[in-house]
This record gives sequence, C-alpha cells and structure tokens, in this order.
Amino acid sequence: MPQSQPDIQRVDTLVIGAGLIGSSVAMHLARMGVEGVRAIDFDLEGTLSSSELNAGGVRATFTQPVNIAMSKVSIEYFAQVAEEVGYRPCGYLWLHTPESLDRGLRARERQQAMGWQVDAWDVAELRRRVEFIDKVDDLAGALFAPRDGLVNPNTLKQHFRAEARKSGAQFDDRRLVRSAQSGPEGIRVVCDSFAPGVDEETKRAALTGGSAGAGAQVVYLARRVVNCAGPWAPEVARILGYRCPSQPVRRQVSIFDCRDVDLSPYGMIIDTSGVYFHPEATNGLSGFANRDEPPGFNFTYDGEAFFQERIWPALYERSSRFERLRHLTGWAGLYEVSPDESAILGEAPGLSGQDQGRIFEAHSFSGHGAMHSYAAGLALAEKMVSGRYLTIDARPLDCTRFDGGQLLHEGLVI
Ligand SMILES: Cc1cc2nc3c(=O)[nH]c(=O)nc-3n(C[C@H](O)[C@H](O)[C@H](O)COP(=O)(O)OP(=O)(O)OC[C@H]3O[C@@H](n4cnc5c(N)ncnc54)[C@H](O)[C@@H]3O)c2cc1C
Repeated sequence: MPQSQPDIQRVDTLVIGAGLIGSSVAMHLARMGVEGVRAIDFDLEGTLSSSELNAGGVRATFTQPVNIAMSKVSIEYFAQVAEEVGYRPCGYLWLHTPESLDRGLRARERQQAMGWQVDAWDVAELRRRVEFIDKVDDLAGALFAPRDGLVNPNTLKQHFRAEARKSGAQFDDRRLVRSAQSGPEGIRVVCDSFAPGVDEETKRAALTGGSAGAGAQVVYLARRVVNCAGPWAPEVARILGYRCPSQPVRRQVSIFDCRDVDLSPYGMIIDTSGVYFHPEATNGLSGFANRDEPPGFNFTYDGEAFFQERIWPALYERSSRFERLRHLTGWAGLYEVSPDESAILGEAPGLSGQDQGRIFEAHSFSGHGAMHSYAAGLALAEKMVSGRYLTIDARPLDCTRFDGGQLLHEGLVI
C-alpha cells in the first residue's frame, strides 16, 4: 500500500511549547505584525506544564537588575489587565535574620533605584502589621514590596492566547515534536499529531520520557523556530541541534486549612527557612524548594509527609497560631533550572551557516516564569523583529553567558 504523505504546514515562526512563555511570545510577535505565527503544544491544557502547577507569585524583588526589570515590566502590564489576569498587589514580605538582612537591604537599594518600592520594617513594625507572626527572636527585620503580589496563572495564559489569536496567531494542540531538520527553505519540524481526548496516561508517558505511541505525522516548515518548552527545553534543544544546560527539578506545594489564622489580608510571606506561603481562596498555599532534590521528570507529590516534614514545622516555628494547621492537598510540578537560576533568552547558541537567525529560545526561568512571562515575550519578540532589545536589555540572559563565565547568580530565589 502506498504510504500517505505527511501534512506539511508552512509557517513563518513556529513556537514550540505554549505555556505562559510560548503564549506570550506568540502574542507579542503577532501584535508586532508578524504573520504566520503558530504555537504548538503536546497539551495546550497544560496538565503537566509548569504554567498550570505554579504558585502564582509575582515580584520584582530580585538581586539581578535584568530580573528586576523583567518582573517590573510584567507586573506593570498585569496591573493594566488586573481583572482579567487576577493580579492582586498584596505584596511580598521577606523575613530576615541578622545575617540575611544586609543582603536584603543591598538588593533593596537596587530595587528602589529601578523604581520598585520596598519598605524596610523593624521587628516591632512587623509585629504591628502582621500580628499572627509572634515568634520573632531570630529576626532582625523584614522587607515589604507592596506592588509584588499574586496572579491567576491560568487566566494569564488564556489572556496571552486570546490576545495572540486576536492578532492572527494560531495554536495547534496535541502536537509532539519528534525531530527537526534544517534546509534551504527553513526548518522542517516533524510532530506526532494525536487525536482529541488524549488520556492522562499518554500525556504522562509522552512528557516523562516514556512511549506515548505514535500519532499521525504533521510537518511544519518554518522560517524561524522558538524553543519555549519549559522543563522540556533541553530535549527540544537537542532535537533542534544545540545544547541547553538546564535541568527539570521537582517542586512541591501544599494546600492547608489555616484554622486559627485568616491569611486573606496578606500576600506572599517568605520565611527565613525558605518556606513561603500565601492565602489561596479560604485556605493557605505553601511551598518549599528542597535544594537536594535530584533533577528529573518527577511529578509525585509526597502528600501529608511533605507537609508534616517540610512545611508545618517551619510555619509553627514562626507562629503559635499555626499549631493546628491541617493538610488538605497539594501537587508537584517542575522548575526549569538553569545553572545560575536566571532565565535563558535570545538566539540559540552555537548556530552557524544557514541556522543563524533561525532558532530562538525563552525558557529556564528557574521558578520565576509566571512573573517574567509578559516581559520575556516582549523582549524576545523585539529581538526577533527589530534585531535588538528595545524595552529591556535582555542581553545578560543570552545562553552564551555560561561559556563566557558571565553567570547571573540570582541571590533571591525561592
Ligand atoms: C510548584 C511551582 C511553583 C512555582 N511558583 C511560581 C511563582 O510563584 N511565580 C512564578 O513566576 N513562577 C513560578 N513557578 C515557575 C513557573 O511556573 C514557570 O517558570 C513557568 O510556568 C514556565 O512557563 P513555560 O511556558 O516556560 O513552561 P511550561 O508551562 O512548562 O510550558 C512548556 C510547554 O511545552 C510543551 N512541550 C514540552 N515538550 C514538547 C514537545 N516535544 N512538543 C510539543 N510541546 C512540548 C509542554 O506540553 C508545555 O505545555 C513555579 C513552578 C512550580 C513547579
């Protein structure tokens, strides 16, 4: 029997991965008038994507200027569309020991110089403002950034996609990128295309290195490709023929019944232990980044054990009113961690000949992709359309920094 020819779709720019970052890149390119923008994803719903599994925190309280700028530009946009994306300027409150306060104050100088208000509180002020924090003997003070806050990552992603579609971009679901080849006409990206109703097991298998079975083939012939595959960016980079130094690392989040504390007047609070928490509807949400977590595609939530071992002891050490917290549920997702815990953005490294100017990347946000999403898309689209960064100088985020020894070690990561 003759084999059926694969469907070939010609596009200008193919965005691989349509989480928060890919959707933002597609939106900005389309808004800038690029025709033929196509974003593809194996699972547009994003069941295992970081964009659906994060804590929704947005802050410009970083140490690296480029990270401050990326968040500032993003949060200013979130404020303009606050209702649609669920932005609430409820603040980030960083608690500090005497050892960490100096570093926090130095970062604050930079943040304020870049136009981001951060208030310094002594312990008495902290007690007055956040009355349930009653165990403060180890604290030297706190830093509070009132415009940091929370967004709804799902509605934010839908917002980017709706705006992208309005400007002509298209989104294709159930496309799993398998191989790519560069040629004189552009880059041929070969995908397995799955029928509607892909089940949970198939999604897990495809996105954790197992076999998902093969669907029908779809081939895209693109002038340019953008790698926005989040924790899967290293594999997509391999397919596209270059190396990405990042790794996927599991991060867990618990939801708990606060019982004796009403968290609703507060925003994100980051304890000195590294445990962070914020109100989530009528409950609390709390997470902790285990620095010893091995890299890998592990989506297992350790449940009550994680809460009892990692979350509750730290919270009870901070407030006697947290004694009766009750674990409700939780989940695990992936951080896409680069060697210096700052994002990778720009043209893919090590390309030569016909590949130059054809492959771009925006990934490895190392736990801060939601808060950088708007600006990351804007910066990359400017670079692709105008050849240079206009709004934010994102050159420090170029992947070549790892070979050139110009790492951007971010001092405020959670
Ligand atoms: C527990 C947790 C808490 C977090 N908290 C915060 C927070 O408070 N604030 C914040 O800013 N950030 C937070 N983050 C980080 C944030 O979620 C990520 O940085 C951000 O979502 C990254 O978005 P992305 O679009 O790059 O990746 P993703 O959302 O993972 O999207 C990548 C997409 O690529 C697709 N894909 C992968 N491989 C292929 C392939 N071969 N073919 C086709 N499609 C493919 C996937 O299906 C996926 O949809 C948190 C993350 C976790 C896990």
